[in-house]
Amino acid sequence: MTQTLGAGIETLRTAMVGPVISPGDLEYDDARSVWNADIDRRPAVVARCATTADVSAALGFARQHRLEVTVRGGAHGVAGNAVSDNGLMVDLSLLREITIDPVTQRAHVGGGALLADLDAAAQAHGLATPAGMVSHTGIGGLTLGGGMGWLTRKFGLAIDNLVSAEVVVADGRVLRAAADENADLLWAIRGGGGNFGVVTTFEFQLHEVGPIVQFGMFFWSLDQGEQALRLARQVTTALPAEINVIIAALNAPPAPFVPDQFHHQPGFALLVAGFGSPEEHARLATRIREALPPTFDMVTPMPYVQLQQLIDEPTAWGFHRYDKGAFAAELSDDVITVLAEHMPSKNSPLSAMLIYRLDSAFSDVVDDATAFGGTRTPQYYIVVTAAAPTSELLLREREWVRSLCQTLPAYVVGHGSYVNTGKLDDAQVRVSYGPKYERLAAIKAVYDPDNVFHRNANIRPAARG
Ligand SMILES: Cc1cc2nc3c(=O)[nH]c(=O)nc-3n(C[C@H](O)[C@H](O)[C@H](O)COP(=O)(O)OP(=O)(O)OC[C@H]3O[C@@H](n4cnc5c(N)ncnc54)[C@H](O)[C@@H]3O)c2cc1C
Repeated sequence: MTQTLGAGIETLRTAMVGPVISPGDLEYDDARSVWNADIDRRPAVVARCATTADVSAALGFARQHRLEVTVRGGAHGVAGNAVSDNGLMVDLSLLREITIDPVTQRAHVGGGALLADLDAAAQAHGLATPAGMVSHTGIGGLTLGGGMGWLTRKFGLAIDNLVSAEVVVADGRVLRAAADENADLLWAIRGGGGNFGVVTTFEFQLHEVGPIVQFGMFFWSLDQGEQALRLARQVTTALPAEINVIIAALNAPPAPFVPDQFHHQPGFALLVAGFGSPEEHARLATRIREALPPTFDMVTPMPYVQLQQLIDEPTAWGFHRYDKGAFAAELSDDVITVLAEHMPSKNSPLSAMLIYRLDSAFSDVVDDATAFGGTRTPQYYIVVTAAAPTSELLLREREWVRSLCQTLPAYVVGHGSYVNTGKLDDAQVRVSYGPKYERLAAIKAVYDPDNVFHRNANIRPAARG
């Protein structure tokens, strides 16, 4: 078998423009590594695709040699679905080309581009589209699962701005998914994850943003957790769409705006980004300061691209990671108590909790308009993430995440999770997609009847006939 594959690899090398990497090659260890250092898998082949035709060739090769297929976008998925032992990785890291049309305000984005690539290219024209909050995340995985970020209250999820896509489906055909062509496929990839094919190009609607936006960070000590979270709840319930907040529990960065004695200290924070007038932002800052004087704070204008990179460093590659998330209809007193009580027992300074506020433009989209795995009712998304420098140290942090999530009230954890967080089993995937699951399964049966793309929050193809 190895001999057969060896000869085949040479054939694949000839068929592809991009390089084909296999065990023993110098780049192999680099090519198989993903953001979560806890994932250590050894694929048989890494097909680093440089063109759409390369993707079709790689899928054909996997079919011929019965290799499990994985797809690598930005490699940020905590579950490590981009790589498997003995499989074929369709590596999109060379497909990062971006073209911006400032007149139609549309972006064409390569399937392996990172958020930083898109932000830089679009901001050169004063434009942006909603994506995530860490600029080294892949546009691919983030968009296909939904994509929530600073602009979500103003312009919706990434998928709400996805106009069309070029998709290589399981049998190697290249399809356009748009409102007027394979509309079922477009609907499915707007939230259904990587289940339906390899997206080689995304087309996004852009909006005028920045280039300067307003930012504020307000920090309270751990023992003020309940008060800080109650204030955050109050702030988020009457928030103009021009402003977004992230409620966080984290360690204060060793940044110049943080007084020396608080560097690395754990606490609760409210991160505020303003896309409207500086005066509106300043008024909110004053209200926050007066309601609960923070240990320290910082309010400043900054370029949008800098806002997008603010938490890049604490989320750098190379750490062992685990995360879990839950949608919460409200930040009830029960939820606040659980979060405030659990935060002090984290051990690693890199472990953190983030809460996204999902309403306004997010909730202007009706549930059925996209395949997003969750409802569009105004809500919060809570994600708790463990990080440690070694596998051994991660064990304790993983338990901390699990015990926190298990202690959350049943009405929170019962609604499933954002499919882009952690590893979800079959039952959790079904709960997350709810009534949309059957429609997704029927579309899956059309485009991927053999479930080639199953290393994801997997949707099983509906039975034929
Ligand atoms: C530090 C960090 C911060 C994050 N912040 C946010 C945030 O603010 N908002 C948010 O919504 N999410 C956020 N996420 C979650 C993020 O959306 C997911 O981890 C996402 O899966 C990352 O996509 P990727 O392409 O980088 O990952 P990968 O591991 O490469 O891919 C993840 C999944 O998507 C599939 N996939 C990737 N690209 C393609 C493609 N082009 N075609 C078909 N399938 C593809 C893969 O096969 C895999 O199943 C964050 C994650 C991390 C680790």
